[in-house]
Amino acid sequence: MDLLIADASILDGTGAPAFRGTVGVTGDRIAAVLPPGTAEPQAARRIEAEGLVLAPGFVDVHQHSDLSPFTEPSMDSYLRQGVTTCVVGNCGSSAFPAEGVPELAALAGSRGLEASWRTFGEYLEAVEACRPALNVGALVGHGTLREAVLGADQRRPPTAEEAAEMRRLLASALEEGALGLSTGLIYAPGLHASTQEIVELAAGLARRGGIYVSHVRGEGEQVFEAVAECIEIGRRTGVPAHLSHLKVEGRTMWGRAAELLERIDEARAAGADVSADQYPYTAWETELAAVLPPWVSAPELGAALADPDARARLERAIEEGEPGWESVGRSLGWDRVVLGSFPPEPELSGRAIAELAAERGVRPVELICELLLRDRFAGMLGHGMDEADVRTILARPDVAVASDGIAVSPDGPLGAFAVHPRYYGTFTRVLGRYVREERLLPLETAVRKMTALPAERFGLAGRGRIEPGAFADLVLFDPGTVADRATYERPHAFAEGIRLVVVNGRVAFDGEPGERAGRALRRGAR
Ligand SMILES: [Zn+2]
Repeated sequence: MDLLIADASILDGTGAPAFRGTVGVTGDRIAAVLPPGTAEPQAARRIEAEGLVLAPGFVDVHQHSDLSPFTEPSMDSYLRQGVTTCVVGNCGSSAFPAEGVPELAALAGSRGLEASWRTFGEYLEAVEACRPALNVGALVGHGTLREAVLGADQRRPPTAEEAAEMRRLLASALEEGALGLSTGLIYAPGLHASTQEIVELAAGLARRGGIYVSHVRGEGEQVFEAVAECIEIGRRTGVPAHLSHLKVEGRTMWGRAAELLERIDEARAAGADVSADQYPYTAWETELAAVLPPWVSAPELGAALADPDARARLERAIEEGEPGWESVGRSLGWDRVVLGSFPPEPELSGRAIAELAAERGVRPVELICELLLRDRFAGMLGHGMDEADVRTILARPDVAVASDGIAVSPDGPLGAFAVHPRYYGTFTRVLGRYVREERLLPLETAVRKMTALPAERFGLAGRGRIEPGAFADLVLFDPGTVADRATYERPHAFAEGIRLVVVNGRVAFDGEPGERAGRALRRGAR
């Protein structure tokens, strides 16, 4: 054997209690799971686990690391919390088709990137050529498809020809290993799509076995309707539906997580095939441009501000919201909304919008427009959820743990910015704070929520379990010390208590970074 991890407390990912044993690895697979007292086979490398917990490497089905393999292939922020597989292409936004990704042009200049892929398969090959530290699977983003096919003219339904072209692109990607389709229905251009448009596109998943994954149309006052829409899309297409980063957001909604979960349970009882993931924090992070109402996109902002009538309407919308569209400022207050990444002036990152506006003697809405004009890709964090709601959802054994973050490094391009601490801390925060300190859920349940549960749901064959024949993606951690260290103030801090990470049979981290052995994962491939 190539590797032996001896005398571990093994959690196999299924939710079964821990058992003592030794795991042997040959090539990229788990070759044996040996009970105590079994004669130990010879191995090229033997690691003494000393009773620490050995689990399947964590499977994070909600990341936005689509371009991380190109910019930061070491993917440190996740490797160092025990993640071995990530799924990208979430929230309606993917790297394929490349014509639908405006950021690529901006990134290409600053980071020497080139979007050389013409097909989804070529994107996966390009990812693999970077030798990323983690395995990477990908969804196709509906917003990216729409942008690629409809171009700048997004406030209309696609024509029959355009809809057919979107279906063709999705089908080609599914043939080449895409895991499914994602939507981001609070973002342009996804928010311009009707339920019917999505149903017609998502129907293509049924034949090929992909999942429909959605950042729903609203997570605040509209969340009940928005979740119902996702479930309806699953029902009408006969496709498994998945709710991304499940939450109830905004002061008026606090305390209603249990009620939302009840609705989901009722739908399931009536036959709906629906699942969810969640990150364990009370703040969200997104692009600052999400404060703009549907009728103004970030590139159109300058023109809207130049027209006095449009400007007045825009300012009112940002402050108050509009029918069917929620204002972040109204639901939270600008004191709870914080500027995220902002390359033109990194010192401003991490400061609250209300505070920055007061300091400059302008209204929050004026400040926001100025920031967006300087950088339309600026980031924002909102302290929008209640801890009790986060706990209610986290306690559920059937909701996967996922981060919604980007794989970064402290010395990488985003290292200067106040990014969300979930990039570094999601999985170890659940294990340390919620399992060990608060005893909200048992360790074996938490590990299942990070491994077998999401891997099965997203069709990642051979991942997420410790059993002979499975891929040797493994994490060894100390349940007594495992913890997140990343905070909102100091987000670029690695997790603690992770001793060893193995990816496809290679030691990727053992206190020091090791081999980068991640692969592109194609749906169903074993
Ligand atoms: Zn999202």
